[in-house]
Amino acid sequence: MREIIPCNTCGSSSYEERKINYLYSHKGKYLLVPNTPVEICIDCGMIYYDAAVLKEIERRFFAIHQQHEMPDSYIQIPSKSYT
Ligand SMILES: [Zn+2]
Repeated sequence: MREIIPCNTCGSSSYEERKINYLYSHKGKYLLVPNTPVEICIDCGMIYYDAAVLKEIERRFFAIHQQHEMPDSYIQIPSKSYT
Protein backbone atom coordinates (compact mmCIF):
# COMPACT_ATOMS: atom_id res chain seq x y z
CA MET A 1 0.00 0.00 0.00
CA ARG A 2 1.30 3.38 -0.98
CA GLU A 3 0.85 6.38 1.22
CA ILE A 4 -1.44 8.93 -0.39
CA ILE A 5 0.46 12.15 -0.88
CA PRO A 6 -1.44 15.24 -1.99
CA CYS A 7 -0.89 16.16 -5.63
CA ASN A 8 2.07 18.50 -6.13
CA THR A 9 0.14 20.51 -8.66
CA CYS A 10 -3.35 20.93 -7.25
CA GLY A 11 -3.24 19.46 -3.72
CA SER A 12 -5.89 16.84 -4.44
CA SER A 13 -5.54 13.36 -2.96
CA SER A 14 -7.83 11.59 -5.43
CA TYR A 15 -5.92 9.29 -7.70
CA GLU A 16 -6.88 6.81 -10.34
CA GLU A 17 -4.74 3.77 -11.07
CA ARG A 18 -4.09 3.18 -14.73
CA LYS A 19 -1.72 1.38 -17.05
CA ILE A 20 -0.04 3.39 -19.73
CA ASN A 21 2.65 3.00 -22.34
CA TYR A 22 5.55 4.70 -20.68
CA LEU A 23 8.33 6.09 -22.83
CA TYR A 24 11.59 6.17 -20.94
CA SER A 25 14.26 8.35 -22.46
CA HIS A 26 17.87 8.74 -21.51
CA LYS A 27 20.49 10.65 -23.51
CA GLY A 28 18.54 10.37 -26.75
CA LYS A 29 17.75 6.67 -26.38
CA TYR A 30 14.26 5.39 -25.77
CA LEU A 31 12.56 2.42 -24.23
CA LEU A 32 8.83 1.95 -24.56
CA VAL A 33 7.35 0.10 -21.61
CA PRO A 34 3.77 -1.06 -22.16
CA ASN A 35 1.35 -1.49 -19.25
CA THR A 36 3.30 0.61 -16.80
CA PRO A 37 1.22 1.09 -13.65
CA VAL A 38 0.80 4.76 -12.78
CA GLU A 39 -1.44 6.90 -10.64
CA ILE A 40 -3.17 9.84 -12.23
CA CYS A 41 -4.55 12.79 -10.32
CA ILE A 42 -8.27 12.89 -11.05
CA ASP A 43 -8.45 16.65 -10.65
CA CYS A 44 -5.58 17.89 -12.81
CA GLY A 45 -4.38 14.84 -14.75
CA MET A 46 -0.84 14.85 -13.35
CA ILE A 47 0.79 11.42 -13.74
CA TYR A 48 2.71 9.87 -10.85
CA TYR A 49 5.06 6.95 -11.19
CA ASP A 50 5.93 4.58 -8.40
CA ALA A 51 9.62 4.83 -7.51
CA ALA A 52 10.02 1.03 -7.60
CA VAL A 53 8.45 0.88 -11.06
CA LEU A 54 10.78 3.57 -12.37
CA LYS A 55 13.76 1.79 -10.90
CA GLU A 56 12.78 -1.44 -12.66
CA ILE A 57 12.34 0.37 -15.97
CA GLU A 58 15.74 1.99 -15.57
CA ARG A 59 17.33 -1.36 -14.77
CA ARG A 60 15.78 -2.93 -17.86
CA PHE A 61 16.80 0.02 -20.00
CA PHE A 62 20.46 -0.23 -19.04
CA ALA A 63 20.45 -4.02 -19.34
CA ILE A 64 19.14 -3.76 -22.90
CA HIS A 65 21.55 -1.04 -23.92
CA GLN A 66 24.55 -2.70 -22.38
CA GLN A 67 23.87 -5.98 -24.15
CA HIS A 68 23.06 -4.48 -27.50
CA GLU A 69 25.26 -1.59 -28.28
CA MET A 70 24.45 -1.60 -31.97
CA PRO A 71 22.09 1.30 -32.61
CA ASP A 72 19.93 -0.83 -34.90
CA SER A 73 19.24 -3.56 -32.37
CA TYR A 74 16.51 -1.85 -30.43
CA ILE A 75 13.22 -0.39 -31.47
CA GLN A 76 13.51 3.05 -32.92
CA ILE A 77 10.67 5.32 -31.94
CA PRO A 78 9.57 7.43 -34.88
CA SER A 79 10.28 10.95 -33.69
CA LYS A 80 7.31 12.33 -35.64
CA SER A 81 4.83 10.83 -33.19
CA TYR A 82 6.33 12.63 -30.24
CA THR A 83 6.87 16.12 -31.51
ZN1 LIG B 1 -3.66 17.25 -9.16
